[in-house]
Amino acid sequence: MPHDLTHLEAALAAYPRATLLEGATPVQKLSRLSNLPELNGCNLYVKRDDLTGLGGGGNKLRKLEFLLGEALAAGADTLVTWGGFQSNHARLTAAVAAQQGLACELILTPSAVRHDDDFCHNGNVVLDALFGANMHRLPPGSAPDAYADDLVEKLKQQGKQPFVMPLGGSSPRGSLGYAACAAEILHQADALGLQFDRIIVPNGSAGTHSGLLAGVTLARSCTQIVGYSVLATEDQASATTLEKTRQVLQLLDPATSLEESAVHVDGSQRGQAYGAPTDTMLEAVRLLGSREGLLTDPVYGGKAFAGMLAAVRRGDYPAGSNLLFVMTGGLPGLFAYRTAFD
Ligand SMILES: *Cc1c(COP(=O)(O)O)cnc(C)c1O
Repeated sequence: MPHDLTHLEAALAAYPRATLLEGATPVQKLSRLSNLPELNGCNLYVKRDDLTGLGGGGNKLRKLEFLLGEALAAGADTLVTWGGFQSNHARLTAAVAAQQGLACELILTPSAVRHDDDFCHNGNVVLDALFGANMHRLPPGSAPDAYADDLVEKLKQQGKQPFVMPLGGSSPRGSLGYAACAAEILHQADALGLQFDRIIVPNGSAGTHSGLLAGVTLARSCTQIVGYSVLATEDQASATTLEKTRQVLQLLDPATSLEESAVHVDGSQRGQAYGAPTDTMLEAVRLLGSREGLLTDPVYGGKAFAGMLAAVRRGDYPAGSNLLFVMTGGLPGLFAYRTAFD
């Protein structure tokens, strides 16, 4: 029986949304990887959210569809956000502003663990500048949200109409982008005639995970969403994901509740800190590159793919399981992590 997605899609249609994607992103099978005996007969698929055209692509564009819709409805002329030097969200916000003819103010914070030249000056920051964003590089230890408050005041005094987006674009509105992605995935599963047992994602600011979980919950799908936390600890990320998913459901259908047990966050791949390379991440990025010609990033996708590989190798999923890994983009980060791959 195909999924009935009318309820979810009607609920999503109530919110203003800009179109930033060309259409559905492909679902592809990783045949050469799935054939490895160590993967115990699991079928690995990828959802190619790295193949979103604007600004180098990535998962943030789905959130930005709803955030831009909200910003334009509010009459904004300036987009303001913050993140690390290598923030993909900052880069894609800058690209969206360029495409829309809006100004863009990016507040960028240094990493606690990486200080080399490639990290500070290559990758995403090169592209932020190309898109014409105004960049504010904060010194270590400063609070980007307080800085954003001051900046917004200044912009208003100059007669501007700033619109502020949180870290990773993961407000409840932004996360609707991934509830919409859940509907897209379920349509694609129906068209392929298969059921995905698990959808696997990186969990950073948790909007991707929360949006997908809200979407499958509303669609009454039994697909489990598994998030590998790369920023917060497992407990913190679980709590944040539960809260955010409930906020997204509140927007879509306040009558739909969510059990805590529906949230699956695995903290085993985070390593020392956000953005700190791990051996399993390096192995996963190399394996996907060398066996499938596909690129994952070192901060998010590489760690989540490593977690999925570990689970499959351990035999956590029975042979014949269909696992869908969401490729969230972040390719510019590879250039910022050149020394980690030396
Ligand atoms: C932001 C990001 C993520 C994580 O998404 P969240 O919604 O913040 O959890 C994953 N992969 C890439 C490449 C990202 O830029």
